[in-house]
Amino acid sequence: MFIDVDSRDVTIHSAHDAMRVNGLKGKAQTRRKSLNDSLEGDIRDFLINESELHTYDDLTKVNPVTPTTVLKCLQARYSAKVFYTHAGCTLVALNPFQPIPHLYSLDVMREYHSASQPQDFKPHIFIVAEEAYRNVQGQVEPTNQSLVVSGESGAGKTWTSRCLMKYYATVAASSQKCQHTVEKIERRVLDSNPLMEAFGNACTLRNNNSSRFGKYIQLQLNSSQLLVGASVQTYLLEKTRVAFQAPNERNFHIFYQMMKGAKEKQRLDWMLPLDQAFAWLPHADKNLEEDCLQETVVAMVNLGIDEEKRAQIFKILAGLLQLGNVDFSPASEESQSCDLEENSKGFLQKTAVLLQVPVEELQTYLVVRTLRAGKQNVLKPCSQTECTIRRDCLAKVIYAQLFEWLVTFINNSMCADRSMWCNFIGLLDVYGFECFLLNNLEQLCINYANEKLQQHFVAHYLKAQQEEYVSEGLQWSFIRYQDNQACLDLIEGSPTSIFSLLNEECRLNRTSDAKQFRVRLEKELSGNANISWDKFSKEPHFTVAHYAGKVSYRIEGMMEKNKDPVPPELIHVLQKSQNALLHGLFDESDSGGSRGHNKVVTVVSKFKNSLESLMKILYSTTPHYTRCIKPNPDCRPLTFQKEEVITQLEACGIVETINISAAGFPIRIPYGSFLQRYGLITNTLLNRDDGPEMSDPSVLRSAVEDVLNVVLKRHAPSSTLSPDDNNNMVHCG
Ligand code: ATP
Ligand code: MG
Repeated sequence: MFIDVDSRDVTIHSAHDAMRVNGLKGKAQTRRKSLNDSLEGDIRDFLINESELHTYDDLTKVNPVTPTTVLKCLQARYSAKVFYTHAGCTLVALNPFQPIPHLYSLDVMREYHSASQPQDFKPHIFIVAEEAYRNVQGQVEPTNQSLVVSGESGAGKTWTSRCLMKYYATVAASSQKCQHTVEKIERRVLDSNPLMEAFGNACTLRNNNSSRFGKYIQLQLNSSQLLVGASVQTYLLEKTRVAFQAPNERNFHIFYQMMKGAKEKQRLDWMLPLDQAFAWLPHADKNLEEDCLQETVVAMVNLGIDEEKRAQIFKILAGLLQLGNVDFSPASEESQSCDLEENSKGFLQKTAVLLQVPVEELQTYLVVRTLRAGKQNVLKPCSQTECTIRRDCLAKVIYAQLFEWLVTFINNSMCADRSMWCNFIGLLDVYGFECFLLNNLEQLCINYANEKLQQHFVAHYLKAQQEEYVSEGLQWSFIRYQDNQACLDLIEGSPTSIFSLLNEECRLNRTSDAKQFRVRLEKELSGNANISWDKFSKEPHFTVAHYAGKVSYRIEGMMEKNKDPVPPELIHVLQKSQNALLHGLFDESDSGGSRGHNKVVTVVSKFKNSLESLMKILYSTTPHYTRCIKPNPDCRPLTFQKEEVITQLEACGIVETINISAAGFPIRIPYGSFLQRYGLITNTLLNRDDGPEMSDPSVLRSAVEDVLNVVLKRHAPSSTLSPDDNNNMVHCG
């Protein structure tokens, strides 16, 4: 049974009736508002006891569930130094921005692991970890699990993923030795973190240790549920960072580690004198704990990267730093081609030495390109800008290939033979929704990934909520919910979408024009309500209405980024490298390593494919969602800024969850509490001797029905009451 309040009066129906009226999100919001209006000063005041807000372990139990009450509850908990709160099937994790060692100790891990009912313990990431661990063995059949950690930059995703890995490395330690080594597998799995972070993380304006790639790591468990291996899949490394760092941001950590941690001999080998400034190494004076080369080298050793390979890796990286100092002067009239700036010659020389490639060819193909004229190749001088673009392309492709090689190596080192493991627990740590002043293809891809994850989340959440109502004995016809399919169709759909049009532009291989592309988008896609244009904006752009908010994308540069061209002549130069690793990265006989110039796989196609495989895996597993929240933008300890938090609750879907919840029954009052407050209406007083027996749910329910019948006669004589079985709550929706 539940009370349904609409804008005019109070009615009481069956849940089934309510759902017919109570479908879409918009309606849910109107209803929530009218609910709030109608119950102003009554149920609401009764329900929210501010002094107790910090005690609510689950946000769905806050009554009523509204963004404001949820925010107040989180703030109260944060002030009380309680950082984890459930939100139905989601865990909300507030970043304390200071170490809380006692919260994550081995003893605490063991406590959650050995508890018969961990969910009765205080909310904690270890509850999620333990639930997944118990589920994986499944009573009927084993099911793979996925732990999806989301949130904006600096919210604590990577921190949480590391914490989860430590948990499994502790409670599921197999003591299994890796093949051919004495290293334990848990060690390798944990060591993959500092290694990947050294190469894939950087200090940004928002986070000193920001992951510039997404990752999904599968922890492989054998039939005894012991950790026997792991594999990792990475997504969309921000390789541009190697050649371009935004103001006040830094390059990937590994370069600073080398610069600061090189021993004397290494400094000579890598040609890195301490007093040398590098254009691609800004803010080298900033000292971070992430700058520790030793930790990376230890991880490399543990993962089996031998001394020779390490030397090759570091030389390649050192070569990139030198390349960044190579600049070009404008073409002179007589030579028609650009030359190196005078003081760049030495840097190019060092680049060639470190990369072990022929210096003349490297120089030539940085400043000229070959064109096919009939059956002949002709050389065409590049402009100064083109030369710089070629230099940056070269650095990006080398770094991206090196990163890919590293991930493959890590996988070979950690992955158990397929016959050795039965199930996996997957940990997903991907970038959250992004909306900057200027957004380009990277943000479009990231926000598209977040749309996909949100769709997965909503499908999962609705299912979980339905199951809860069924378990409470409510008649329940399912919520029709306006999902984000239209937005996904706009971005990736066929036959026509933003992605398909971008790819077509790439296939046509013409010089792309941003204005023309905008006209195309408008012509082809204006039927989709999720795309719009700001008439007053001078720059060609389009705006997408994402579930988390509107984002305007700049078209300039987008087509080029999608093509991601690499000058083939420069690839040929790399193929001549005497550095075995570098040579291998571009080996033509190995299709995986080569960067072929004939088959153009665009950035969005590649990303869409890898995301589709990820979604397939996610849909085949039981998901567990953790939403990390960054309580203030400055990473200050224990500082809670409401506006910051509410924006993130919106962006990561918690407010959506609340809306779905509001489309169902946002208020649930236990019979006892209801009678304490409203029993007066029928003179049913709980604390009197002649009052109903508190411990008997059926007596309580019948007393509640009496009260509701009176309310019903008074306010809505034409409505009916249809009680539900097994229900010990009054549901208001
Ligand atoms: P990005 O998207 O930029 O990679 P992220 O969500 O992965 O961001 P983290 O790097 O995990 O963010 O967290 C940022 C910082 O916040 C960490 O370096 C750490 O200092 C702090 N932090 C996060 N979670 C916790 C925690 N539970 N306890 C203490 N400190 C934390
Ligand atoms: Mg991260």
